[in-house]
Amino acid sequence: MAEVKSTCCYCGVGCGVIIETAENKGKIEVTGVRGDPDHPANFGRLCSKGSTLHLTANPSLQMQARLGSPAICKTRGEEPTDVSWTEAIQTVAQKFANIIKEHGPESVGIYVSGQLLTEDYYIFNKLMKGLIGSNNIDTNSRLCMSSAVAGYKQTLGMDAPPCCYEDIDLASTIFITGSNTAFAHPILYRRLEDARKNNPDLKVIVVDPRKTDTAKEADLYLQIQPGTDVALYHGMLYIMLWEKWIDESYISSYTADFDALRDLVRDFTPKAVSQICGINEKDLFQAAQWFATSPATLSMYCQGLNQSASGTAKNAALVNLHLATGQIGKAGAGPFSLTGQPNAMGGREVGGLANLLSAHRDLANAEHRAEVADLWGVHSVPEKPGLSAIPMFEALRTEKLKAIWIVCTNPAQSMPDLNAVHEGLSKAEFVVVQEAYAHTATTLYADVLLPATTWAEKVGTVTNSERRISKVNPAIDPYASAKHDWQIALEIGVALEALLPGNRKEGTSTLFPYAGPEDIWNEHRESTAGRDLDITGLSYKILEERGPQQWPMPKGDFFGKKRLYENGVFPTKDKKAHFIAAPYKATAESVDARYPFALNTGRLRDQWHGMSRTGTIATLYGHSPEPCVELSPKDAGRMNLANGDLVHVTSRRGSEIFPIKVSDDIASSQAFIAMHWGSEFISGAAGKTPGRGVNGLTCNMIDPVSGQPELKHSAVKILPANLP
Ligand code: SF4
Repeated sequence: MAEVKSTCCYCGVGCGVIIETAENKGKIEVTGVRGDPDHPANFGRLCSKGSTLHLTANPSLQMQARLGSPAICKTRGEEPTDVSWTEAIQTVAQKFANIIKEHGPESVGIYVSGQLLTEDYYIFNKLMKGLIGSNNIDTNSRLCMSSAVAGYKQTLGMDAPPCCYEDIDLASTIFITGSNTAFAHPILYRRLEDARKNNPDLKVIVVDPRKTDTAKEADLYLQIQPGTDVALYHGMLYIMLWEKWIDESYISSYTADFDALRDLVRDFTPKAVSQICGINEKDLFQAAQWFATSPATLSMYCQGLNQSASGTAKNAALVNLHLATGQIGKAGAGPFSLTGQPNAMGGREVGGLANLLSAHRDLANAEHRAEVADLWGVHSVPEKPGLSAIPMFEALRTEKLKAIWIVCTNPAQSMPDLNAVHEGLSKAEFVVVQEAYAHTATTLYADVLLPATTWAEKVGTVTNSERRISKVNPAIDPYASAKHDWQIALEIGVALEALLPGNRKEGTSTLFPYAGPEDIWNEHRESTAGRDLDITGLSYKILEERGPQQWPMPKGDFFGKKRLYENGVFPTKDKKAHFIAAPYKATAESVDARYPFALNTGRLRDQWHGMSRTGTIATLYGHSPEPCVELSPKDAGRMNLANGDLVHVTSRRGSEIFPIKVSDDIASSQAFIAMHWGSEFISGAAGKTPGRGVNGLTCNMIDPVSGQPELKHSAVKILPANLP
């Protein structure tokens, strides 16, 4: 029996795990998993998902069939034919090169995932921006964290959560807004429960339209109307100003642009805000008082703010409160965006989005583009921002984008407005799907399937919500002929280099001179020199010896940095944080007489994303065995419906059938459907029926700054399914 230290592959808490292995008939297999007591994210704890990781790791035990060989589909949707890696690599490279030569570099796109490791992300980004010469690379992290990125950049100057997990222990008020932390980040929630035991005076405020398990435990629960977060935060600031609870000294020393915000919030009187948000003035006052007057206030937030057409404004309005009260840059305080996926942070660090470059450089900045071009040994990096997630699939539908390479994600289930996404995929001239699993809603559209390794087989790094970089280590061999994601990108990159007229400078023999992931990571590390996320003091060896570290950690530092902005200096031109006077806007798609319900989506405690792994574990299913639409007792009673009755849920984009669950947690005129089930789980026949799950209904309108879609709010009608 042997043990390997690694990191959980599910959420952005980034818990350390110890993988236990044993030999079985000459093969090493995973036999168990337990929390790593030395990892500072979890100190040995694991949640229900993490503690069943071993059940998903052995291919022989996996219910979901693994993709074992590269394959080519002569006719889409029909049984693919296995081919050699050489044929698969050449086919992809040749087809991409042909399309690029005929239609230009912007006719192809790569869609990657926050599940990828930092090294994977880096090489895909270089392949698209350095070799192909387009910025058409985006990620499913666009669907979860891009509004937090934009909010941080607008206000604090950098995409970086300034806090650390220890702040949960040290806060005196915790303001949880747009996050069901108990379900989505369970190990952090347990830390919060411990903090409450240790400090009976700790106040927990929860803001959420749905009375989640997190909200039920709050000292103060604000059940706001969907999408009214900006009005709430402006209303809290109005009260703070009136009561003189703001920190004038902090504002004048370390911030700019407060006057415009002060003018804007004059209209957000307690009376007006209580009407907009549907809460009482007393609770609003109490929230403002606890937030502003507490010795240390920590906000924790997630998709409730981000997945919105006003996501950037919501993030900025919340950061405003921290700046106005000086609740930032000190122990136990600050705006703490909880990352959804295990490596959404690492993807951003290497610039793996359509508008970013390596080491948080900006595509719009000519100097930054030149620095990256120099580092990569190419003549230039294109200036024009690429297609972000939603426009990328829309461009397939309008046939402006001809080819797409989808890596480690299942957009045919996870994107909003799925009918349009499926139309786009079916119109695409060429679709490559790089996957660990043989059957997803997206593999049905593949022309070429590339088998990838998955957790317990891979090596590399991930960054969690508190900027902590951890190693991911392999415990078992790759399944069948699966290759690592970075390796597939490298081999296709090298094949493409031979086919495309080079953007390479003389003296650059290849853009991909890597023998392994450590070489890629070292190149990424060098790209951070002198940047705000400088990690030049870090190496694989140091990560193994000193354990996971938070960035920045420049040369000469022995440990990473716990908190940012403790000196009040911000990474902006004037070194000050900036208030943003963002107006409150209603949801992108309003409810009306025809579509009177506000549909919300979210996670369940025991499932992860599209359930490729957690959906195959019986103990996890026990918590919630089938998809359903949650309705209030009032609405169910009005339609004479009881638990289990079927209803049509219809939006402007599609109609789906669900059983109902009557729940006191939902306000009247609202509905909730978990995000996890797609057509294969609903219909039992992968993709062969029109059922698409909740994303057949959701709204794809995006935030104009972040490009994040409004997955948290769609207008729907709900009618009993037995009506003619
Ligand atoms: Fe894994 Fe997140 Fe659970 Fe930790 S909290 S064990 S990272 S799913």
